[in-house]
Amino acid sequence: MRPKIIQKLIDQFVKFPTVGPRTAARFVFYLINLPEKETKDIAELISSLKENIKICPLCHKSFERNGDENLCPICSDKMRDKSTIAVVEKEIDLEAIEKTKKYKGLYFILGGTIPNIKDEQKKQDVRKRIEELIKRVKNDNKIKEIILALNPTTEGEITALLIEREIKKEKSLSENLDKIKITKLGKGLPVGGELEYADEQTLSSAFENRK
Ligand SMILES: [Zn+2]
Repeated sequence: MRPKIIQKLIDQFVKFPTVGPRTAARFVFYLINLPEKETKDIAELISSLKENIKICPLCHKSFERNGDENLCPICSDKMRDKSTIAVVEKEIDLEAIEKTKKYKGLYFILGGTIPNIKDEQKKQDVRKRIEELIKRVKNDNKIKEIILALNPTTEGEITALLIEREIKKEKSLSENLDKIKITKLGKGLPVGGELEYADEQTLSSAFENRK
């Protein structure tokens, strides 16, 4: 029998993306063997994360708290092109796109895709985000184009279709939705792959060749 505290920590790590029970156990044994100061530093960093990080209410990107600034550095940047909004699954995809330095528009993080998560709650969360996206586009007539920059996986494609369908449904109700252009990334991204693993050149040309 494992000591309870070890098991408890393993149970927490298992919830992390891509971490299975064996990796989770490795993490815990790694922590046990670290000098005490290092484990304390890690624990402090984790507990200060929420205090120091804010989630942008417009795009859902995380950013370091900066006085009273409510929006993330991308949404509050006056130089960014406010007419395009790229919809991504995860913040790490946004980072991959930012690294190419080619895209100058805004973002919207969905927080996942619809079918690949069994968790009903999570599915609801993504659906809510889609509703929120549509509301944002309805109310912001500066937005002229929505780029569905989802991963080229089956789940990504199904989610993109769902977003398109929802927008079409509401089109007649909003002048801005009616005029909006919906584009998808161009070919070249490895099918079944994820944006975060695409090289900068491939990702840049997928953006340039969107249609
Ligand atoms: Zn933002």
